[in-house]
Amino acid sequence: MPLMAQETSKSESESKSLWHAVSPPGKRMPPLQGSMDIDVAIIGGGYTGFSTALHLLNSGASVCILEANTIGSGGSGRNNGQVIPVLSRVEPQDLERHYGEAGERLVGLVRDSAEDLFQLVRHENITCEAEQPGWFQPAHTVAHSILCEKRNAAWAARGAPCRMLDAAETSKLLGSDAWDCGMLNSSGGHINPLMLLRGLAQVCDKRGALIFENSPAHTIIRSGQRWRVTTPQGSVLCNAVLLATNAYSGEMSSTLAPKVARSIIPVTSWQVSTKPIDEALASQILPQRQAVSDTRADLQFFRYDARNNLISGGALALPFNGVKRIKNLIGKRLQKAFPMLGKPTFSHVWSGLVAITPDRYPHFHQLTRLLVSRWF
Ligand SMILES: Cc1cc2nc3c(=O)[nH]c(=O)nc-3n(C[C@H](O)[C@H](O)[C@H](O)COP(=O)(O)OP(=O)(O)OC[C@H]3O[C@@H](n4cnc5c(N)ncnc54)[C@H](O)[C@@H]3O)c2cc1C
Repeated sequence: MPLMAQETSKSESESKSLWHAVSPPGKRMPPLQGSMDIDVAIIGGGYTGFSTALHLLNSGASVCILEANTIGSGGSGRNNGQVIPVLSRVEPQDLERHYGEAGERLVGLVRDSAEDLFQLVRHENITCEAEQPGWFQPAHTVAHSILCEKRNAAWAARGAPCRMLDAAETSKLLGSDAWDCGMLNSSGGHINPLMLLRGLAQVCDKRGALIFENSPAHTIIRSGQRWRVTTPQGSVLCNAVLLATNAYSGEMSSTLAPKVARSIIPVTSWQVSTKPIDEALASQILPQRQAVSDTRADLQFFRYDARNNLISGGALALPFNGVKRIKNLIGKRLQKAFPMLGKPTFSHVWSGLVAITPDRYPHFHQLTRLLVSRWF
């Protein structure tokens, strides 16, 4: 079964996203029509595409962004909005051991990523309900407490603003005794992910980026020393191409980059949002409003948004009857961790695709030596 079939149809699941319901509309962009000439063509209008566009624009390059759907229809517009300054599985020492100096640079980039994001939001004046109360990773077993301690020591030794919380501190921070201890990184927090993305797009638009929606790229073809990217109604001649299509790489076009699409496993992640929690309850559950994701493989995670909606989620092995089953599953989990919540009712349920790499490392593909993507 095609993985996209695990989701409800795109427009249906988009209409059910909390973020699409509460965020001011973004500026609509036209589809690409006809041919154009530019320095860099970026395929994919998510954080990767717009962050790269912003850096390129600031260095004087001309840039266009081709988005197959609308800005925010990918993971960047549908995620939980947790700003997390670690990689999910890979430890900093693994990166350094495998990749030497390049690994050290990537560790520094990850360590500073949350602070950099909040600084960017302030510097560019992006309105996105940003809150920086920290990101907390509670341990769900004794073995994971040890892992958490090691992880905390490794990041602290590399200058990350993190520390371990003991059982009493953990219970106070969460308003729950369901976890024993955990790592708190004070640079983390949360944002409204769709507002962040639309804000980034707006900054790029004002700096001269040419942004096209409903413009799926179908091919990248060599054209002399340059490249031509084609869409159904147009084409872009450019010096360099960035493929920033992440988990959706194989979803919009089977011809664009099939090897890249095959290199990742797109996994559906479900999100649920409660109705706003009243102040009395919110002062007991997660009273300092950190973003929280625990040590489980099937993560337990939650955060408040600006309206005190508690936003959580999870994964389902099988998609059938997904909305009902995920509500049941997450409702039970939240009630177990926070009995004072009672049986939660959810106002929004939606999903998106996460790209998993087989070795859990981040992958950067150099499509050819003449294309721009290169890290290691
Ligand atoms: C439900 C969910 C919850 C998550 N929660 C968190 C979280 O709390 N914290 C966190 O750090 N990360 C989280 N993530 C992961 C995070 O959202 C992603 O890592 C991030 O958004 C990836 O950004 P991106 O720009 O690389 O890809 P995307 O935002 O997915 O953008 C890729 C874009 O490429 C477009 N595209 C694809 N093919 C083509 C084509 N042929 N032509 C043109 N455009 C094309 C797609 O339409 C899409 O808009 C979550 C992800 C999901 C799905």
